Amino acid sequence: MAAAPEPVLILGGGLMGLAIAHQLARRGESVLVLSRRRSEAAGFVAAGMLAPHAEGLRGDLLALGQASQARIPAWVAQIEADSGLPCGLRPCGIVVPFASVEERDAYPTAGCGQPLDRQALEREVPGIGASWAAGLLFEQDGQIDNRRRLMRALERACVELGVTFQEGTEVLGLERDGVGALQAVQLRNAAGEAQRLPAERAVLTCGAWSAQLLPELPIAPVKGQMLSLQGPRQALGRVIFGPGTYLVPREDGLLVVGATSEADAGFSEGLTPVGQRQLQDGIAALLPAASHWPPMERWWGFRPCTPDEAPLLGTSPIPGLWLAAGHHRNGVLLAAITAELLGREISPTGPPANNLDLTLPSGRPWQQAFGWDRFAGEGRS
Ligand SMILES: Cc1cc2nc3c(=O)[nH]c(=O)nc-3n(C[C@H](O)[C@H](O)[C@H](O)COP(=O)(O)OP(=O)(O)OC[C@H]3O[C@@H](n4cnc5c(N)ncnc54)[C@H](O)[C@@H]3O)c2cc1C
Repeated sequence: MAAAPEPVLILGGGLMGLAIAHQLARRGESVLVLSRRRSEAAGFVAAGMLAPHAEGLRGDLLALGQASQARIPAWVAQIEADSGLPCGLRPCGIVVPFASVEERDAYPTAGCGQPLDRQALEREVPGIGASWAAGLLFEQDGQIDNRRRLMRALERACVELGVTFQEGTEVLGLERDGVGALQAVQLRNAAGEAQRLPAERAVLTCGAWSAQLLPELPIAPVKGQMLSLQGPRQALGRVIFGPGTYLVPREDGLLVVGATSEADAGFSEGLTPVGQRQLQDGIAALLPAASHWPPMERWWGFRPCTPDEAPLLGTSPIPGLWLAAGHHRNGVLLAAITAELLGREISPTGPPANNLDLTLPSGRPWQQAFGWDRFAGEGRS
């Protein structure tokens, strides 16, 4: 009898790791997820905005975001069917307020949104702060409840499809054979024991920590602090995406407030008075009434950031090791397309992916546009 094929190893069980594990399992692969600490994943931290237009993305990254956005309803439906759990997708539209009409019209994605004057802004967001003169409504943008629903549904869907997990396992190193290809990973398991796991195929999805395993990768952490308030159930219908602060209303009235963007904080844990004050000031400017809503939780996490703020997708310097890392502030948005692209690359003989037609404005194939070596010659920033 032929030996069972080695599983594809997923290094890091955060959002990308789970989304790719799910996709590979659907393609008939055996998959093992090695996860150091699920609770530190940015997938549990994020606000869950699905916002290629409100974020003002440009060029190839905007096209990637739009392609992912188009896939999200079917992707979510699949996860919900496989897991039996809701993901909390809410196509509620996002309003971006501006201090002036000129600022509004200069926004990179202004042409994709509906321009709002002050009166229309008040109609869309009753109670919005007095300092905003204009806005853009992006009806096509929305949100998903990643923290309470999507991550758990993805985990459940993976388990239902036979994916195995080693939680509490830290990958310590990647071992190469004589020609430089991946042959094993070294790890420390939950009991603290050192182990060596043979592997011909693995995906590096360690988020902000990815460069600790592969120092060639230009990925650095950008810390974000968040908080939540409990509002009345229907107090806010749309997400408000202000400069420096955004308000994301969940179905049950919970208002998720984000986020600081601290590139100099490294991996320093914890909240800071300056960061929390920035969020409180942002709430007061965007929706003054919300300043009086009771606080529920405060938390923080680390965005995986690259020099151009776009992800590293596809092959790596090590044959047999693929990359899905560096999604910075748009990983929730990009999870659907990331899983689909990587699933097809790693498991090309599986069932055909959905009509995967990804045309980028640069004319480059995605493997080049988002390749890990696209910064060659630029130096690390
Ligand atoms: C404050 C904040 C707000 C955000 N808001 C949004 C938003 O509104 N919309 C949006 O689209 N995106 C948002 N994001 C971005 C999004 O959360 C990330 O881009 C995405 O979660 C990255 O997924 P990942 O799987 O690469 O990393 P993560 O989800 O961070 O997962 C990485 C995992 O790898 C594990 N790991 C690391 N090193 C090792 C190792 N050596 N061995 C084993 N495991 C390891 C970690 O324990 C972790 O669980 C936000 C992020 C933050 C921090």
